[in-house]
Amino acid sequence: MKITDVKPIHLRTTPMDQPCEWGYDAFLVRVYTDEGIVGTGASDTNPEVAKACVMAAESNFFSVGLRKLLIGENPLEIQRLWDKMYFSSTYYGRKSAAVHAISAIDIALWDIASQYYKVPIHTLLGGKYRDKIRVYATLPDMDSIEATCDKAIEMKEKGFTSLKLGIYGDTEYDIRKVAKLRECLGDQFELEIDNCSKWRTFGKAASMFRKLEQFNLNFIEEPVIADDFNGYKKLSSMTGAMIAGGENLTTRYEFKPFIEQAEPDIVQPDITRCGGISEIRRIHDIAQLHGCKIVPHDWSTPILISAAVQFLAATDDCDFFEYCMSESPIFTELAANKLPYKDGYVEVPDCIGLGLELDEDFIRRYEVK
Ligand code: MG
Repeated sequence: MKITDVKPIHLRTTPMDQPCEWGYDAFLVRVYTDEGIVGTGASDTNPEVAKACVMAAESNFFSVGLRKLLIGENPLEIQRLWDKMYFSSTYYGRKSAAVHAISAIDIALWDIASQYYKVPIHTLLGGKYRDKIRVYATLPDMDSIEATCDKAIEMKEKGFTSLKLGIYGDTEYDIRKVAKLRECLGDQFELEIDNCSKWRTFGKAASMFRKLEQFNLNFIEEPVIADDFNGYKKLSSMTGAMIAGGENLTTRYEFKPFIEQAEPDIVQPDITRCGGISEIRRIHDIAQLHGCKIVPHDWSTPILISAAVQFLAATDDCDFFEYCMSESPIFTELAANKLPYKDGYVEVPDCIGLGLELDEDFIRRYEVK
């Protein structure tokens, strides 16, 4: 079997000259073969930049567009192709966008392999450890504290046993929001917060940690910027909550120093950014060696959820992840059969490939040419 083409697809549901919220655009990639099998992958990244990484012409042997590297290759040689893409893009890659594009292609290659061998991806990865995986939901941004609490109660009633609140400020309002949420969900309900690195400095984060300690938080995500490993480490002694981070990072080369120096409790690679299914397995090995838990980031397409579930099911200890609650049509309409949550869990399908029925009319309608 040989790869005959690699096509990047940029989806966008809002006009190009308007602001775009998270999840309202997407980067997909399709890998075509001479046996008629087509693999699909995706990345939560800037689609235009990732598209350029795929389609760029060769500049020198460290700067080759990914598509050119794959044409004519056997798609089943996934690890060799991963290495070929990584080492032939090192001048413009190694981190961020190029690795995001590699991640999407890697997922597409696992999709192809599963279809070729006619066994689920989790079987190819070594076997299924569990039939369902517990998820937490991230609360959408609401206009008021009352609306946030109403939404949280609604989600609790839908069966979620764990909720995450974005808290991006450092005012009394932000503290009151957490306090009110804790009050309306009850003392024992699992509640975590995500700061998206907005407290920036160790000092600001430390002061917020002291104010938030009383609310029995499960974990605090990205309290300082992704590269401030020392800040992460110092903060870990200041809270009873677990500290989480890593959604910005790519490959074992970034996760190893993060895990060793920042000493997070929870590591959050995004499977569509960190290097795909192939690379998250290596990141998982490093995390396990250091007593950390992998809880993947997930807020974009149904492709991300499906790929993440296949990986998580094939590990002995990854039994928890984020379930995207995006209301973007890319999340709600792209696939007719996206994995649903039920009673706070997602079931692990024994499907072939990613198992998604993508709506081709939807793709045609929203593809940016
Ligand atoms: Mg986050």
